[in-house]
Amino acid sequence: MTTSDQAAKINRAFPELASTPDQMKPFMQEHHGVWVCYIGEDGDVIALGHHEPRRVLAAFNRIARKECGLVNLVDDRNARYVEVARELHWRMARLVTACEAPEHDQDIEERGYCYHCVSLKDGGFWVDWSDPEHPDAFPITTWEA
Ligand SMILES: [Zn+2]
Repeated sequence: MTTSDQAAKINRAFPELASTPDQMKPFMQEHHGVWVCYIGEDGDVIALGHHEPRRVLAAFNRIARKECGLVNLVDDRNARYVEVARELHWRMARLVTACEAPEHDQDIEERGYCYHCVSLKDGGFWVDWSDPEHPDAFPITTWEA
């Protein structure tokens, strides 16, 4: 059984653990009618829903200005639209707010803590697009730095 099979089973048994797009909103900001947020530490951004490139990039540029003080998403006034838009991806993903790390037990045993659990406890979350067919998957647009 794969991790996502187990997750699907868990989510069916405990519907309160099922992820929905609305559960993402507390972590996000709305710009130009699009819900967006940074994920990870590399400058990647995601938006709820599938949007056409100009609209979602406008929202991404806005959060980059507001949160990071950048001139735009790539912090380059001369950036070409097509170059930036090339890094957009339309995916199906789900929100993960409970530890599903395969290394959880081993990490607890070896280090005394699990990085995923610590991150979740600190208000972190994971957006998993490894299984687009997952019953909880919803559409997102990503831009990877
Ligand atoms: Zn864990």
